[in-house]
Amino acid sequence: MKVAFIGLGNMGAPMARNLARAGHAVTGYDTAAPAPEGVTPADSAAAAVDGAEVVVTMLPNGEILRAVAEEVIPAMAEGATLLDCSTVDVASARAVAAMAEARGLGALDAPVSGGIGGADAGTLTFMVGGTAAALAAAAPLLDVMGGRTVHCGPAGNGQAAKICNNMILGATMVATCEAFALADKLGLDRQAMFDVVSTSSGSSWSMNTYCPAPGVGPKSPADNDYTPGFAADLMLKDLRLSQQAAEAVDCPTPMGAAATREYAAFVEHEDGRGRDFSAMLPRLNARGRG
Ligand code: NAD
Repeated sequence: MKVAFIGLGNMGAPMARNLARAGHAVTGYDTAAPAPEGVTPADSAAAAVDGAEVVVTMLPNGEILRAVAEEVIPAMAEGATLLDCSTVDVASARAVAAMAEARGLGALDAPVSGGIGGADAGTLTFMVGGTAAALAAAAPLLDVMGGRTVHCGPAGNGQAAKICNNMILGATMVATCEAFALADKLGLDRQAMFDVVSTSSGSSWSMNTYCPAPGVGPKSPADNDYTPGFAADLMLKDLRLSQQAAEAVDCPTPMGAAATREYAAFVEHEDGRGRDFSAMLPRLNARGRG
């Protein structure tokens, strides 16, 4: 297929490279990052999408996505599909899909989980919002970049699934870290804590797969001095998206709000920026209650 790829950063570069390796003709554009191996660089986003059957975007936020969409949608080929893989707010996802559909184009919001490792290995999970026809058009590319695709419903529902999942993740990570911090102060051995909780009703992905305590459980960023992994600043971004969405639809999310406050303090007023999001444990270890 003829593919345009806009946003060739930490995630976009390996995703675009995998598409090129699989034999697709990929033209790329980024305002700063170079085109990866096998991807032909274009001089502008509008030039990149010329004649492309699918336009993939992997951009930092909804504001940038809206600006790029305004530039590329008028330049896209008849019948083409816009496949946005960025994590953005639900409202921006729905606005961009409406813009594309008004021109008769297909549109999907398809945020991912799996991080840079999953992007590199082509094993991302895609959470997709949009029509079945648009999904069918993009499916050959999703199959190359990912291992699993879940169709979550109409436009915006992929983003809704992503932020709901990550709101649970943020809240369970804070809960797991505060439980370890309390266990430490009560004199409970971390291995015993892991052995009990990971097989009991307090278990979760945060404890069992991504344990925030070094030397305990499977290997995780905690064993690598909290080098991300999944950075605390990205967790904060996703938590804020969940709170923005919750406010828009008047839904109470008290645990999501608490997790957002904790990550905001950690990233914006302490040393959390650039550290893994499980570094919430040493943060809590270092603090008293006050
Ligand atoms: P990144 O900052 O490394 O990449 C974004 C790229 O977009 C940059 O190279 C930037 O130069 C480019 N860009 C910015 N404005 C542009 C424009 N107007 N036109 C063209 N290019 C432009 O970020 P990333 O880690 O690759 O993340 C991309 C998206 O994926 C984000 O929405 C993020 O939340 C999401 N995500 C990231 C991860 C992760 O682990 N990094 C995991 C899941 C989802």
